[in-house]
Amino acid sequence: MRSPGDELEHLRSQSLFRQLRTLDSPQAVRVEVDGRSLDNFSSNDYLALADHPLIKQAFKTGIDQFGVGSGASRLVCGTLRPHQDLENAVAELKSAQAALTFSSGFATAHGLVCSLMTKGDTIVLDKLAHACLIDAARLSGATIRVFPHNDLNKLGKILRAVNSARPADARVLIITESIFSMDGDAAPLAGIIALKKEFDALLLLDEAHAFGILGPGGAGLARQLGVQNEVDFQMGTFSKALGLSGGYVACTRDFRDLFINRARSFIYSTAPSPALAHATTFAIGLIQSKEGDALRERLRRNVQTLADALGKSPPPAGIFPLIIGDEYAALDAARQLLEKGFLVPAIRFPTVPRGTARLRITLSAAHTSDQIQSLGKCID
Ligand SMILES: *Cc1c(COP(=O)(O)O)cnc(C)c1O
Repeated sequence: MRSPGDELEHLRSQSLFRQLRTLDSPQAVRVEVDGRSLDNFSSNDYLALADHPLIKQAFKTGIDQFGVGSGASRLVCGTLRPHQDLENAVAELKSAQAALTFSSGFATAHGLVCSLMTKGDTIVLDKLAHACLIDAARLSGATIRVFPHNDLNKLGKILRAVNSARPADARVLIITESIFSMDGDAAPLAGIIALKKEFDALLLLDEAHAFGILGPGGAGLARQLGVQNEVDFQMGTFSKALGLSGGYVACTRDFRDLFINRARSFIYSTAPSPALAHATTFAIGLIQSKEGDALRERLRRNVQTLADALGKSPPPAGIFPLIIGDEYAALDAARQLLEKGFLVPAIRFPTVPRGTARLRITLSAAHTSDQIQSLGKCID
């Protein structure tokens, strides 16, 4: 029988071994690690809300009014008023009939895809879709087809081929992200919607890295383009720009009811803390306020500053990948930046395909221009 030591040694030999790093400070653009103060360019806390005084206060108010725990799964007796308020706030922000929340984005993806899809159905996935979407697709038992990243031509061909042998009640579900988590680019959403209509498919759009950042009030890419009514499932997470945790889907009332009845990650898991739900509703109000607009503007300016420093064009949201290729070289580049006081992660297989290892720089509204300029100088 193989030992864990052998497996770990194998990972080390390929520069794929990973380990945890503990922060001794709140999540912020400067963090304390091993007694050092580092400039943090690795967090998804794009709007610097993870340690926001008003959201922390809302969390405390939520504890005082509703307690710390939910006591049961949502269907048993774990649905408290803050859960319902949060779902109303998400539905309104997304201009959808209804919304349902989960304990994480990961659990949302599993709940949705496995509720909707089964043997005989077909899932058509962008090649760079997040691991939780891929795993959910596999678990559902549906047939999986993968199209090259953002390739509308290939997506159309796959949809046409699937339709030529499609039973009347079989579902076809296209899955993509609005901003890709490791590449930072946007999906060609208008083109995907044209295809989903032409071939009578459903569309699941993972807005994880666009929620809070793009569109009016930070509602996401679908709202930015005004196509939210054409996206069957606007899913996302409260764990990135909202600085909290938990996942959501905005959809029709019927689909919400279906998920409540079928989604195993919803049914067989204790409801998230009501205090967290209360704080999340507050954070949704904050991103829709003038302060939210100001934070998004500051993030955009910071992205432009780094783009100028690196002589590149600015990406559409807060993610700046610098592709290096070799896994060891990427680790080495991250190590050199760490020595200079910058926390920038090397992203490697299996998070990205082999041979496409990269530095993934993420920007926050709270970075100072000086921090960004200094990072730019160390990378050039
Ligand atoms: C982070 C992420 C998720 C998972 O969300 P969590 O709330 O962190 O579980 C899902 N999809 C994408 C694209 C992500 O980047």
